[in-house]
Amino acid sequence: MSSSRPSYIIVGAGVFGVSTAYHLIQKYPHASVTLVDRDAFDADSRVAASWDWNKVVRADYDDIVYCQLALEAQDIFESDPLWKPYFHQTGIYWLCRSDYAQDVIDNYKKLGRNADLSAVPIDEARKMYGGLFEDADYTDVKEVLVNKTSGWAAAGDCLRAVTRKAMELGVRYVTAEVATLQFDDDGHCYGVKAETGEVLTASHVVLCTGAFTPKLLELSAARSGLTDLRAGPRIVAGGITTGMTKLDDKSYERFAAMPVGVQGYTAKTGPFIGSLPPTKDRELKWWGQTIFKNTQEALPGRHISMPPPERDYAQWKVSGRLKEDIQHANNVFYGRKGASWKMEKHRICWDAFTTSGDFIISPHSASKGLYVATCGSFHGFKFFPVIGRYVLQMLEGSLSPNLATKWAWDRERPDPSLFPDWPRFEMKDLSDPVRASKL
Ligand SMILES: Cc1cc2nc3c(=O)[nH]c(=O)nc-3n(C[C@H](O)[C@H](O)[C@H](O)COP(=O)(O)OP(=O)(O)OC[C@H]3O[C@@H](n4cnc5c(N)ncnc54)[C@H](O)[C@@H]3O)c2cc1C
Repeated sequence: MSSSRPSYIIVGAGVFGVSTAYHLIQKYPHASVTLVDRDAFDADSRVAASWDWNKVVRADYDDIVYCQLALEAQDIFESDPLWKPYFHQTGIYWLCRSDYAQDVIDNYKKLGRNADLSAVPIDEARKMYGGLFEDADYTDVKEVLVNKTSGWAAAGDCLRAVTRKAMELGVRYVTAEVATLQFDDDGHCYGVKAETGEVLTASHVVLCTGAFTPKLLELSAARSGLTDLRAGPRIVAGGITTGMTKLDDKSYERFAAMPVGVQGYTAKTGPFIGSLPPTKDRELKWWGQTIFKNTQEALPGRHISMPPPERDYAQWKVSGRLKEDIQHANNVFYGRKGASWKMEKHRICWDAFTTSGDFIISPHSASKGLYVATCGSFHGFKFFPVIGRYVLQMLEGSLSPNLATKWAWDRERPDPSLFPDWPRFEMKDLSDPVRASKL
């Protein structure tokens, strides 16, 4: 550490990193806060899961901790001029195949929140929103959770705006690929080394590196000899396909005021599927049901799941099989209504998963000065306005014991088979078949 002033390097400018920087600089305007990301914050294409056309913003959680946290975040989305322009309160229409609807309603009650939400019988629900979801797949559905207060955010635009605000407040943004973490002789982390060889130092290094976290820790473990740095089974990088169609005038008229759609499944069947209302460019989006690992040899003999090695994670290279996943999503929401829609764009989005779906917001137990704040586990965006406040509490040691335990680096982790969104496939098994070349 080069100065006694607390200083922070935050690697990764997705929602975890930017929210942390934003909360830090507000609380400590004179602190040195540096955000480092391989992509410029206003780049046309970024690898961050947080950089997207849109994301669902909801407090519809059966876990009361996330319900409460999401309500805190949503209050800000609804009222703060920085966030408000990006939030669209369209409501949510969630086909539930378990007691999920009731659990959410109970959580709102326990938290003393009045909101326009209810569990609607299928026959009644089908007629809502002009019958938009009348042709959806209702197999095994018990009821439909309709929460008029949920919605979505223009994710990439919001990320850019808040990053810009943090920079105006004094956060420094460095565009660089971090090759490895730097440690002193006692194993304390004192900075990062970029691929260019440049070394940045700080008293606190916070990894908000999303799906890349296991790989960065693996590389840093190899360079430093600190083998306990490795994520091991704590974090798995998982990919999910998204796809979009551009609605014609007639469909747009019908779908412009649609709510977010969710097909909820149990862990036995698989992850939930979502469909987001059209953006200002009239593009309606889905995410698919196939969540996959990409297990590769990161270093000789070290196999971990990580995004593809291309600089852009090869995120725009989507196999036919994964495109079918989006077609399936279209089908289970809209049936005939969407049968003729042409899919315009596909992207694979990479996130960091834990077996419980909990974040990791914790000091790293293998090195002083090193902290981890990531693992959105496919649901982290909506907490953008508040998550940095909790990262700050973690850095200051004032996180509530309940959250400190839930988000700890070292904790008991449940069997992943209980988590519907756990990556269950391997990317290599989902690629297009290679055709034998003609002799
Ligand atoms: C398809 C999909 C749909 C989703 N939908 C929703 C939704 O509707 N609602 C919701 O709330 N959540 C949703 N999520 C989850 C949410 O997007 C993520 O949980 C969240 O964005 C993760 O944020 P993060 O800051 O941890 O990581 P990211 O946003 O991935 O950011 C990590 C950053 O670290 C940088 N980085 C990594 N390694 C390095 C390095 N070595 N050097 C420099 N920079 C580095 C990357 O460039 C990246 O910018 C979805 C996720 C996916 C994949």
